[in-house]
Amino acid sequence: MAEHDREAPYIPEKVPVKLGLDDTFRFRCHKDIACFNVCCHQIDLPLTPYDILRLKNRLGMTAIEFIKEYGLPYEMDAHGMPGIKMRPLPNTTSCPFVTEEGCSVYEDRPVACRYYALGRGSMRPVGEARIEDYYFIVKEDHCQGHEAEEEISIREYREQQGIPKYDEMNEGWRDLIIKKRSAGPAIGRPPEASMRLFFMASYDMEGFLAFLVSDAFRSVYDLDRDTLETLVKDEEARMQFAWRFLKQVLFGEMSIPVREDARKAYEERLRERARALEEEKRSFARAEAAFDAPLPD
Ligand code: SF4
Ligand code: SF4
Repeated sequence: MAEHDREAPYIPEKVPVKLGLDDTFRFRCHKDIACFNVCCHQIDLPLTPYDILRLKNRLGMTAIEFIKEYGLPYEMDAHGMPGIKMRPLPNTTSCPFVTEEGCSVYEDRPVACRYYALGRGSMRPVGEARIEDYYFIVKEDHCQGHEAEEEISIREYREQQGIPKYDEMNEGWRDLIIKKRSAGPAIGRPPEASMRLFFMASYDMEGFLAFLVSDAFRSVYDLDRDTLETLVKDEEARMQFAWRFLKQVLFGEMSIPVREDARKAYEERLRERARALEEEKRSFARAEAAFDAPLPD
């Protein structure tokens, strides 16, 4: 049979097409569209740390007050890494911020609302450290924005929706999550204390500030006065610092100077942990061998 006689493989209609920044798509969402607000009444909306920072500041709340009132905890992976979603209004799937006129927090709406009707995925090319982004179109039956005449490039759409600032602020956090997922079960469940630090550094902006100026922090980390002052004054710089801090705590990527005695204690803890993991592996192997052994007559 000639090559061209072979049947084309079956391609389901809804397989998303991978798009780059200069690809275009047809989409326009506006106030006079028949489906206006429909999407905001059907939310499943994960919040990023920068979403929480913008929303809590807009509403004049602390991050913890915001999370208690509008957040819904969920687990981002099998090890229970804590995530926060927007809590819908009671007994509905509606966003608490939707009004008849539209979004009441529009200028500070979460990045997932800005991306819709686009999705973003990430890949790490083989043998490279960098993460490559790609995009795809999310088409839902209720959304009539796809019937638009005009085309827009993904690059323009991102600008129009104010996405680059959100991506820039969340970048380090996203790297952490991708890294954690890529490591898979090999890295094991992070200790409870690391999980608490992850929650605080990611979502509790005022708690993280209190931690930075605490004796507990200063007894371990060796920050100069100017750096500490910047972190105290500048909430966005503090958020970027939080990602460095978490990379250090979770993956041992040392970018923050550590006091000598604390460094020795930290290295000893790492050795302890490695020994405990080794022991866990050995007991697992012993248990497996016992299962494989023939049963006594
Ligand atoms: S935050 Fe605004 S745009 Fe996002 S779901 Fe709620 S109402 Fe809609
Ligand atoms: S066009 Fe799509 S995104 Fe815009 S309001 Fe309608 S359903 Fe929502």
